[in-house]
Amino acid sequence: MRRGTNLGRLGDFNQAVILESIRRAPEGISRVELAGSTGLSPQTISNVVRRLLDDGIVREDRTIVSGPGKPRTVLELEGNRLVSIGIHLDPSVLSFVAMNLRGEVLRERRIEVPNLEVAAETIQLMATTVKELIAEIRIPKKHIVGVGIAVPGPVNVEDGVVLNPPLLDGWADVELVNPLRKLLRLQVIIEKDTIASAVGELWQSKEEKNNDFVFIYCGHGFGAGLVLNNDVHHGASNNAGEIGHYSTGHKSFTCEECGADDCLAAGTSYEYISNQAKERGLELPTYEIVGPEQRAEGMNRLYELAHEGNKVAKELVSETMTMVAEVAGQLANSLDVREVVFGGPQWDKVRELVEDEVREAIERRFALRGVHEIETRTSELRSNVGAVGGACVVMDASLSPKATALLLR
Ligand SMILES: [Zn+2]
Repeated sequence: MRRGTNLGRLGDFNQAVILESIRRAPEGISRVELAGSTGLSPQTISNVVRRLLDDGIVREDRTIVSGPGKPRTVLELEGNRLVSIGIHLDPSVLSFVAMNLRGEVLRERRIEVPNLEVAAETIQLMATTVKELIAEIRIPKKHIVGVGIAVPGPVNVEDGVVLNPPLLDGWADVELVNPLRKLLRLQVIIEKDTIASAVGELWQSKEEKNNDFVFIYCGHGFGAGLVLNNDVHHGASNNAGEIGHYSTGHKSFTCEECGADDCLAAGTSYEYISNQAKERGLELPTYEIVGPEQRAEGMNRLYELAHEGNKVAKELVSETMTMVAEVAGQLANSLDVREVVFGGPQWDKVRELVEDEVREAIERRFALRGVHEIETRTSELRSNVGAVGGACVVMDASLSPKATALLLR
């Protein structure tokens, strides 16, 4: 938990700290408890709370009786006073959420296997869908803090540009933020999908525990979000979390990118998987060129067959996800985390089939087992994690000390 400061000029920082404390107390929190959790003086708390009440961001009209002693009046977030929109651009699914300050998803929309070939058309589709969502939730536009977009890396966050995602053809150096900002007249931010997912997972954790975890994002490709001591690691260029070229020990073919013959990207590529299927007597759809649509279609067929009980399909899904787990276990070693969290659109499709094997592979790799346990679990945000992450990124930016000053005065 972040602690506040009683120095006056850092008041905006205190406001962010206080809001964070209120947000993490879904049952409400009293002023006395706030003083305890933030380390701020009653006077400072009183000043900040007054401002938040005036702005309609929090309310203080509910009394709770718990145990002996005086009933306490609690502060709570005014749910829909601030709402953010999250978009997740994954090559196999385009998803949208409208989320309020309490982290509740008010509305969501999914477009499976979207046609993303022409970036300009996708941007137009995003703008139209966001406008529809805002109309559907019936919340005045002045209460919408902005739009956060989770995109496959690498990205240039400062300029709002999608650089050249390996699995997204036609998206080299595409300006995403400026055109959307013009179309929507809202604040727009982009973030790499794995980082946005980790922000979402962290933002939604209600407990005030010390969070250290690796988030394994399973989308069109695989990536990691790294949360260390309650902070999401962004990296020098906001592109942390690339795990595609870790060695898995499972030989597939020589990767053009890294030159190894056992990297995760090669071993989990559709080319390799469909080849393996063929060798073992299972026909999966084959394509001359495997673009996002083809991969999504082929992988969906594989998952379908595995769920129907096809032995080869089950083997292949299991081998693929075990490779991912091998890498996750190594990351957990390097970072000394207590949890590995799985999420993203593809995880939902394979979870039932591979959960136990994935957990075992991580535990096998985890070298600190004599010191502490490693827990493997599924994100409660399920396949929405990228879009919720995007919404959290923009909410976070709006409530951070600097932006709050702009927003509230
Ligand atoms: Zn490679």
